[in-house]
Amino acid sequence: MASPDRFADAPEIGWGFYGHRLELYRETVPHGGFGQLLRFAQSRSRGFFVFTSNVDGHFQSAGFPEDRMVECHGNITHLQCFENCGDRIWEVGDSRVVVDTKTMRAVEPLPCCPSCGGLARPNILMFGDWGWNGARTECQEQRFRRWMESIETGTEKGLRTVVLEFGAGTAVPTVRRFSEWFCARTRGHLIRVNPREAEIPDQLAGVELALGAREAIERLLI
Ligand SMILES: [Zn+2]
Repeated sequence: MASPDRFADAPEIGWGFYGHRLELYRETVPHGGFGQLLRFAQSRSRGFFVFTSNVDGHFQSAGFPEDRMVECHGNITHLQCFENCGDRIWEVGDSRVVVDTKTMRAVEPLPCCPSCGGLARPNILMFGDWGWNGARTECQEQRFRRWMESIETGTEKGLRTVVLEFGAGTAVPTVRRFSEWFCARTRGHLIRVNPREAEIPDQLAGVELALGAREAIERLLI
């Protein structure tokens, strides 16, 4: 389902899948671990950044500032033109996609592009996706780069960095690779929380915690 092909050959199925997810994410209140994590992050002397492959926007709904986020796979709360007619990305806002839960097909009218009137799609990086508009994520990455460069002068003077990584598996290893790259670059520590895949490469300093995210947060950040 997570393929741009669905939007091309059967948009009511593509939007059936993503419209249903959008409603589920809207109805879900992020658990208390998000707030604990935010308070910890805000107490750090040089600030923090979130790097996530989650597309649900729950960090922001838990209070994380928009300008401290890198969403490497995009965010379901933003849309783009399926044809990318003008490189525009816009917020879905309160608009709803009605899904018939018997057929899991979205009901017309489907979200459309405000520029050309054609089909819109979530601004999410799907599998085999050559049409994703990555401009929003690229802006986030530029902000992250500036922040990282600003703390690197501190790490030379003994400041330490830490990465708290939660539930990032090896199947799609983008987040794991990012954590390892950041720790190697800033000589930081990695705390890898994962119930099944908590292993850290030998050359990195860190702690392996075979726990779920919420339990680990509650134990680490009281
Ligand atoms: Zn368009």
